[in-house]
Amino acid sequence: MSKSVGRTAVGIDLGTTNSCVAAWFDKHNRVEIIPNEQGNKITPSCVAWDGTNLLVGDAAINQMIRNPNNTVFDIRRLIGNNFSNERVQKDIESWPFKVIRWIGDNPMIVFEDKENIKSFTPEEISSMILKSLKKSAEAYLGRIVTDAVITVPVYFNDNQRKETMNAGKMAGFNVVRLINEPISAAIAYGLDKSAVKNRRKTKNVLIFDLGGGTFAVSLLNITNAGNITVKAVGGDDNLGGKDFDKEMVKYCVEEFKKKENKDVSENAKAMRKLNFSCEKAKKDLSSTTQTSIEVDSLYEGIDFSLKITRATFEELNRDYFKKCIEHVEKCLRDGNVQKKDVDDVVIVGGSTRIPKVQKMLMEFFDGKPLCKSINADEAVAYGAAVFASNMSGNASEKLKDLVHKLISMINCCVTFNFQNQ
Ligand code: AMP
Repeated sequence: MSKSVGRTAVGIDLGTTNSCVAAWFDKHNRVEIIPNEQGNKITPSCVAWDGTNLLVGDAAINQMIRNPNNTVFDIRRLIGNNFSNERVQKDIESWPFKVIRWIGDNPMIVFEDKENIKSFTPEEISSMILKSLKKSAEAYLGRIVTDAVITVPVYFNDNQRKETMNAGKMAGFNVVRLINEPISAAIAYGLDKSAVKNRRKTKNVLIFDLGGGTFAVSLLNITNAGNITVKAVGGDDNLGGKDFDKEMVKYCVEEFKKKENKDVSENAKAMRKLNFSCEKAKKDLSSTTQTSIEVDSLYEGIDFSLKITRATFEELNRDYFKKCIEHVEKCLRDGNVQKKDVDDVVIVGGSTRIPKVQKMLMEFFDGKPLCKSINADEAVAYGAAVFASNMSGNASEKLKDLVHKLISMINCCVTFNFQNQ
């Protein structure tokens, strides 16, 4: 396809587990989430080396069980951090892929097979993910994409932001701005422009972001003029969907022990297979009340099959869900805002699809309906696309006006209190 060069700008959510790219379509007068080559609107933030090719996204994650040592994920936990950082060391221990200490205490990812060794910096890995999103966007839009707005967590420090910028440049983007994820979510829902309907003359918005590996809660204050201030943030950068999967895996290991009198917990391949099936079952349980976990030839040729109910899943993860609500309470306390004074509650992140999480959050806010009309894993990219569109000048005038107000929002006073810092 011949591509025209234009100032098409995209919004990118470069997530720890998944990434997503979106763009404003003048023709349709709305944001569209751009599918990747496989037709999926979210792309796993995963890169692999199969001995011949570098694979990105779905292709990388799909071969992970057979090639765990050369499949890298969670790269956002490394970018801009030192190798010797205590948290990085803990992560490295838990990852099947190899990370070594490089010049200047920088981490370096190493892929190796019998004949080859390849090494990449975290920025290079991130740039491969960004490049693949760029390629999808160009194929979908039929033109070369130059500008991008990329979202980052509120807690990212200067170095993490700088390295994310570098990754964008390496991918061939002109990164017009990095914006904080909760602000992007608020933009997606147009909460800056909706009128303030209370006597305070500003409104309080809580963004509840529960993803695959991280949980972030942010309290925003939005004025009538559309200025957004981050009043408080909290959460846990080691809490998310992967923990819920692990609890299910533990449960399966016990059931297998009871039934077959065999312990699979030391067998890495069996554990990965179980993890894969448990994640799938977990997702099923968001839309059905019972499902089964099936693994052919789990261990010593024995198949595994187990029925699991939503109630059991909820019981297994009760403490994690409770913790999420405790973080919300703490964030409100830090921001000095009472829950009755929260005007909107926005949920983003794939794990907010879990009905129990939504129920607990709604109950905490005394029945307040949650903002969830945009797909939980697309909302952040959606907001970034609105922002990007304005910056590169291809939005409608009305929208431009709206986003202009938002550009003055950077005066964020962050009461930052992230657990495990
Ligand atoms: P994110 O980091 O926002 O991309 O979210 C990824 C996490 O969301 C993973 O742990 C997924 O297993 C989880 N997830 C995605 N869809 C669902 C679903 N329908 N129910 C429960 N968890 C889900």
